[in-house]
Amino acid sequence: MGLIYRTFLEGNNIYACSQCKTHLATEDFILSKQFQGKYGQAYLFHQVVNIIQGDEQDRTMTTGLHTIKDVLCTKCNTILGWIYIKAYNDDNKYKEGKCVLESKLLIEAH
Ligand SMILES: [Zn+2]
Repeated sequence: MGLIYRTFLEGNNIYACSQCKTHLATEDFILSKQFQGKYGQAYLFHQVVNIIQGDEQDRTMTTGLHTIKDVLCTKCNTILGWIYIKAYNDDNKYKEGKCVLESKLLIEAH
């Protein structure tokens, strides 16, 4: 592994890692704020930058079985949420490839 290049986002309402302030996404990337994470409210993003993905795992949620991966901050390795790899229910297919981040672990950067 060489240097890890971090992407810096521009725009209003940038969401960053609360631990190390690495940029992760902007308000424009949010698909929904109606998600439930481990720590309360969570946001569904169609795109997130500066993350590492963990191993695939199956997780049963209120909406059924999903295959997901943990999503970690590329700089401080905090687990920030998860990414949907596969949804087994047609109603949830739209989530595949999308990323959920815990609102409690985000800060707004400017
Ligand atoms: Zn971080």
